[in-house]
Amino acid sequence: GRCVVAVDGPSGSGKSTVSRRLASALGARYLDTGAMYRAVTWAVLRSGVDPQDAEGVAKVAGETDLKIGVDPEAPSVTADGIAVDREIRGPEVTAAVSAVSAVPAVRELLVAQQREMIDAAGRIVVEGRDIGFVVAPDADLKVYLTASAEARAQRRSVENAADLTATAADLARRDRLDSTRAADPLRRAPDAVVLDTTALGIDEVVVRLRDLLTE
Ligand code: C5P
Repeated sequence: GRCVVAVDGPSGSGKSTVSRRLASALGARYLDTGAMYRAVTWAVLRSGVDPQDAEGVAKVAGETDLKIGVDPEAPSVTADGIAVDREIRGPEVTAAVSAVSAVPAVRELLVAQQREMIDAAGRIVVEGRDIGFVVAPDADLKVYLTASAEARAQRRSVENAADLTATAADLARRDRLDSTRAADPLRRAPDAVVLDTTALGIDEVVVRLRDLLTE
């Protein structure tokens, strides 16, 4: 039957790994909404539009054909037919994504696409910032993952093979930009289960979430 799991939290909280593993374990689809905001940001940068130009950004978003693969074993993103999986994790996109995702027209467009994909999938784990309270308020399970700032920076710097100090500064900057608007990483649905992953292994988190779903 239908089963929608919403996983929200700041970057480095373990969201992506946990969400993919949980989706695989449940035989469900997986939707990375952050990848959608990143792909629009990539298209904005490619078109030469200033990420701070809300009108220009909204126009690019409306004209970009996004395709998101929802297989948890092989998630993929294309923008206008171009595979951008690697590019959207790069420093240029990461630096501009908060500004792009702050544009209300971009959020409206992507949230509508996300809801369509959720309806089409039926069984799906969705990760992002606003899933539990905007995109899928009727989710069967809402999870809010968190971790200490140190643990988050540590994980991201290992993932991206990047300098720890620079990564910590970048995360703090993105948290601050994100928290001034709709996708506040510190905002969470009142009915979300909060899990602090600082001292928990990924497998432990996945087991807990599976237990919560069968309760
Ligand atoms: O999760 P990830 O780090 O890939 O998200 C990248 C950025 O996309 C976030 O910093 C945030 O600005 C934006 N985002 C958002 N709403 C979501 C998912 C991501 O605004 N549902």
